[in-house]
Parts: sequence; C-alpha cells; structure tokens
Amino acid sequence: MALNEFEIIRRYFQRPPQQPSVACAVGDDCAVLSVPAEQQLVVSMDTLVAGRHFPSTAAPDEIASRAFCTALSDLAAMGAEPLWFTLGLTLPQADSDWLQRFAEGLFAVASPYNCDLVGGDTTRGPLTVTVQVHGAVPEGCALMRSGATVGDTVFVTETLGDGAAALAVLLGDATVDPQQRDYLQRRFYRPQPQIAAGLAIRNLASSAIDISDGLLADLNHIAVASQVDIEVDAGTLPISPACRATAGNERQALAYACQGGDDYQLAFTVPLQNVAMIERMLAAGALSATAIGSVQTCRAEPPQVRCYHQGETLAFNEPGYQHFVT
Ligand code: ADP
Ligand code: MG
Repeated sequence: MALNEFEIIRRYFQRPPQQPSVACAVGDDCAVLSVPAEQQLVVSMDTLVAGRHFPSTAAPDEIASRAFCTALSDLAAMGAEPLWFTLGLTLPQADSDWLQRFAEGLFAVASPYNCDLVGGDTTRGPLTVTVQVHGAVPEGCALMRSGATVGDTVFVTETLGDGAAALAVLLGDATVDPQQRDYLQRRFYRPQPQIAAGLAIRNLASSAIDISDGLLADLNHIAVASQVDIEVDAGTLPISPACRATAGNERQALAYACQGGDDYQLAFTVPLQNVAMIERMLAAGALSATAIGSVQTCRAEPPQVRCYHQGETLAFNEPGYQHFVT
C-alpha cells in the first residue's frame, strides 16, 4: 500500500515521549525541549548511506540500530547523558513492511537509553539515514579530545577489532563458526554505545574519543588536540576470541584491533592520581576497560601515536580499513 509522507511519520515515528523535558515532539513544526538546569547541550549527527556505510541488502532493523548506536556513541565519548534524537530519512520508496521493521529496530535500541525521537525529515531518494543525538552534561564537564596530559594512562573499553572482523566475515573474506559469526554480526549491527562508561569516567578521565575509524587513527585525534605523543603496547590490546579466529594470525588480529573501524568503544586518558580509582571500578565490575598505553611528551611536530609489540615498533603497511565500496 502506498503511504504518503505524513502517514509514514504518524504511523511509524510518532510515539509518546518518555522524557518530561519534551513539551512538544513529532507532529508540529518544531520540537520544544527543556534543557536540564545548569547543564550544557551536547549535539552530534551521523549519516549512513546505503552501499557505503552498510550493504544495501542489510535488514531494516539492523540499519536503524546501527544508525542510532553510532550516533549515540559520540555522546558517550563526551560523557553526556542521552536525551533526544531526530531522524532524517531518505527512502527510495515507501514500503510499509520495511518501515515497520525499521521503526521497531529504532525504538528497540533507543528506549533503553530513554532517548526520545522528537522530530526529523522524510524525503524520497537513495536510502540514507541521518540521526542527530542530543545529550546533556553538567557545565564544563564534557570530556574533550584536548585534555590529555603527559603521564596519563590510556584505556579502551571492552574489545577492539570486532567491527573489522565482522566486516571481513560479512563480506565473505573470512569464515568462522556460526556462534562467532553471530557474535560479530551483533557487534557490527548493534554496537553498544558506551554511555555508562562515559558517565563513569566523566570526572576521572582527562580526554576521551569513541573509536569509529580505528584505534590508532582515533588516538591520533587525541594526540593532535592535546599536543602530546601516545604510546600503545599492542600486547595489551583486548581482542575477542571471535576476532582472533577471523584474523587467523596474531598480526592480522592486531591490524583489526589497531586499524579496524566500527568498534564504537571509548579510548580515554586518565591522570596518575585517578588511575587507582579507575582500577577499583574495574575490579568491582563497574567498568569494563583495559590499560593499553601512556601519554608522552610530544617529541616533534606533528604529535604521534606509536605502537609497540614485544619491544619492536609495529607499523602497518597495508592501507587502513575502508568502508565497503567507495
Ligand atoms: P515541515 O514541512 O514543517 O518541515 P514535516 O512535514 O517535514 O514538517 O514534518 C512534520 C513533523 O514530523 C515535524 O514535527 C517533523 O519533525 C516530524 N518528522 C518528519 N519526518 C520525521 C521522521 N523521519 N522521524 C521523526 N519525525 C519526523
Ligand atoms: Mg520538513
């Protein structure tokens, strides 16, 4: 059945908001929102294009969850609490079955974060999904890329390399057993935005970033913004058994972990005086993270990220991971 734009919006995207801060959401000309007192609004947008950021054949609920989760990951990296999001949806056609599954997938991932859909835009064209997330942090408490200082310890949350390994399996470049395939597919389509981790480290970390382009590339953003060098001990990198199985050898596993994109973990730096507190949180299970390196004095412009493995410098000659086709 053919649906017009307004029917699509009303039927699939108009839901009662969960946040009391939403005075008016989907359906009027604008959303009307109250920013919590003495907090700063933190905003980020991500666009996913079919054939570039996900295979055109991907399931609608997987596209929705990936679009939402990758956007929310940026709020995690700032130590922000999610509040609302808007959705820009460009569709080749109005397919009610596709829309139903897309909307279900979207609300399923957004509801646990109490993040309300408050507006958007719906247009016709090549399949493209844009999510803009809005969150809040107490004034002056956002975690920036620019705060790392010499002597800080570098940590990453959970595991690295699963996104790149998943892609290798999804594209048929590697084979693993069905359980590992399921695990990797979940990691790829349902990356868990590290919101809880971002909140837990907000008052302890000096800088943070979410890893979307690969550990070394993203740490480089911290190095440049903070004017420091960063050293990573590759032997300490947390790599899942499924990622190791996909890689087949240690070097490829390290390449997935260091260069692979799409992990959406947080890398963050912690000043010496706060490391013991982080370690207590790790021991208590309040945070899942691993120390992987340290922040050093910048030796020469531009600031550098150096990666060592068993005392040798680890250099990756092969080109960095690239999204699907360009
Ligand atoms: P206008 O023409 O005033 O821009 P629209 O027809 O684009 O209004 O949108 C009508 C209402 O529906 C607005 O509140 C808008 O935010 C909302 N909306 C449109 N598309 C979406 C979408 N994909 N998801 C959520 N809300 C949407
Ligand atoms: Mg509009």
